[in-house]
Amino acid sequence: MAVKTVNKNVIFQKVTAYICDCCHKEYTDDFEIQEFLCFHNTGGYGSVFGDGVEMNLDLCQHCVKELLGEFMQFKKEIWDESSTLPEV
Ligand SMILES: [Zn+2]
Repeated sequence: MAVKTVNKNVIFQKVTAYICDCCHKEYTDDFEIQEFLCFHNTGGYGSVFGDGVEMNLDLCQHCVKELLGEFMQFKKEIWDESSTLPEV
């Protein structure tokens, strides 16, 4: 079998900032961006938002804590430094 390599120009976009839909603050720090809660959904039959309605919500971690923190459940896994990585 012959293998053919195709070089294509790939165009991509890099997110450089997120804007919170609640506090409207712009975040450019990667550590803040990675903590955003990004919710995207399409309402189904019976949805309170409407059947077929597309929903988008981006919240910074500070607003998530303020708005949803009391409802969240937390679990922290602690890495034991004496542990060894599983062999592959
Ligand atoms: Zn916010």
